This record gives sequence, structure tokens and C-alpha cells, in this order.
Amino acid sequence: MKETILRIGEKFKKADSIWLTSHIRPDGDAIGSLLALGLALQNHGKQVTMLLSDGLPANFRYLPGSNKVVKKADPGSAIRVAVDCSDIRRLGKSVNENDQLDISIDHHITNVMPADLNLVEPEEPATSAILAKYMPEWGMQITADIATCLLTGILSDTLGFRTSNMTPNTLRLGAMLMEKGANLPDLYQRALVRRSFDAARYWGFGLSRLQCEDRLLWTSLTASDRNEAGYPGRDDADLMAVLSAIDGADVAVIFIEQPDGKVKISWRAQPGFDVSKLAVSLGGGGHPAAAGAELGGTMEEVQSIVMAATHLLIQNSNGTTRKKEEPSA
Ligand code: 5GP
Ligand code: MN
Repeated sequence: MKETILRIGEKFKKADSIWLTSHIRPDGDAIGSLLALGLALQNHGKQVTMLLSDGLPANFRYLPGSNKVVKKADPGSAIRVAVDCSDIRRLGKSVNENDQLDISIDHHITNVMPADLNLVEPEEPATSAILAKYMPEWGMQITADIATCLLTGILSDTLGFRTSNMTPNTLRLGAMLMEKGANLPDLYQRALVRRSFDAARYWGFGLSRLQCEDRLLWTSLTASDRNEAGYPGRDDADLMAVLSAIDGADVAVIFIEQPDGKVKISWRAQPGFDVSKLAVSLGGGGHPAAAGAELGGTMEEVQSIVMAATHLLIQNSNGTTRKKEEPSA
């Protein structure tokens, strides 16, 4: 891995132009990693293209460099780089699935990215943490703007330094980024607390259908919910943060209706339950505690396949939550 880190640094140094991208329905880590690396390369005089097939969601437009993100751009002869994405099919419609990338930097254990240099560190809770660690080695200065993007990425994927994959080192990286000028309380509020009125109304539809059976908590969100609520995205608007706070379940699932007859699935699991393998078996990916996939079919068809498989996973796992909740003898 050390060799890969050095070679990535060399490749960045030699390149004149760099084309950077990340996954569809981009989250704070995808956006934070993309902008931080893009800004750092620009500061080194590189010609940088930052692309997100779905564009940059409005709630992250406060981040430095966000006005430079485009939805479409041919890489031409530039070095092709993907951050925080485990599967080329997740780069979206602006990227050719048959392409080979030069560099991939990611933290998903399910990573299958076709890249010449693939830096994957699944023990890191965010791709932004990997970048914060290696940027100084690559001779890149972490400015206040770059620190702002990186801390946003770390906060987003660790839900504010509280996921089960947190390490003392992640806290040290957070402290370093604050010292470089990132405003932790402000970024925390923006990335994890404040939500739009439309998003809250959209949650209402999902919450009204919420069910829990055999320690599986689940609900759905439809295109018509988004229309009625006026919610512009096609994700869950972080409804999962609400579901993850509900006691009595080992796994939570949200089904989100997508255009073109597809349904997006999001899983969150308590320690001791690994949803990443289940996601991979359905063509998706992610982490043991948080994974996703997209399946073709109606809501009912997808729900029946996914619910059966998730119930089986719960029955066959040795989770810790149930044990904790059982009264001691
Ligand atoms: P979310 O449920 O928030 O969309 O995603 C949870 C985790 O699973 C994230 O790390 C995300 O990158 C990953 N993930 C979500 N959907 C997919 C998918 O369709 N394919 C792959 N490979 N990973 C996914
Ligand atoms: Mn991530």
C-alpha cells in the first residue's frame, strides 16, 4: 500500500490536467473528498475538472470550490481519478462503465473499481480521512478551504464522530483540520443538523409508513412523496438518521423509488450485523454498518426480495444489540 501511496503522489506531481469524480446521489464524504482534492491540485497549478453526474446538491453549495463542479465533461487526456466510489457503475451516466481509471481513493470494503492505482483503506471511516492523512505526504498544503471540505466529509460519514468505526486517529485528524481553519460547530450544524422544510415534510411520508417486524425496521419513499413535499433530491433526505435512532431493531432499511423503474435500497446495521455482503449480493456495496444497492422492479417486487434476504441475515447473525437489551438473570 505504501508503494501505491508514493505512486499516486508521483502521478499527481507529473500531471498537467486532472479529471476528478465521485458517486451518484453524492453525500458529504463524496463531495468533501472531491472538492478538497480538486482545490489542492488547483493550488499546485493543475488544470482540474470536478464532475458529479448528479451535480452538487443545494445543501452543500456553501463549500469552497462547489461552484466549479460540472455535471458533464469528457476527461480527454487528463488523469482520471475517482474518490469515495467503490464501483464504476456508481459514477453515473456521465462516465463510461467500460473505462479504466488512473487512480481510485476509497474506503469501501466492497471496492471493485477498475483503476491502475487503487488506494482502498476500509478501516478508515471516510475517504476524506484518507486524504487528510496523505495530502501532506503528497506535498499538498491543507488550506482552511481544504480543511473545511475534509472535515465535512469526515463528519458526514462518521455522523459527527460517533459511528462504530471511529478511531482516536480520526479525532486527531479532526483536531488537525480545526487547527488548519475548519469551523467544526458550523460544519456540524450544516452537514448533520439543519434540514430543509421540504426534507422534513418528505420524512413525514416515510415515517407514516414505518414498520418494525422481527427487529427489522423499514419504510419506503416514493416519487409522489417527493412531489408533494417539494423535495428536489431522489435520496432519503437523511431520513435514515431518524430511523437509526430508534430502539428495538438490528437493521433498518429504506426503499426509495427512482426514475426508470428502479428502487434504491439503503441499509443500516447495529454492530454484529454486516449488511455490506447482502448489498453486494444484490449488485450494490458499502460498509458492514451502512450499505446500499439499486434494483430494477416495482416497489413491491423489490421489497419482497430485500425483506426476505434481510430477515435471513438478522436470523443468522450474532448481533450485540439484542443481548444488551435482554434483562440479565
Ligand atoms: P446510502 O445508504 O447512504 O446510500 O449508502 C450507504 C453506503 O453504501 C455508502 O458508503 C455508499 O457509498 C454505499 N452504497 C450505497 N448504494 C450503493 C450502490 O448502489 N452500490 C455500491 N457499490 N455502494 C453503494
Ligand atoms: Mn465515504
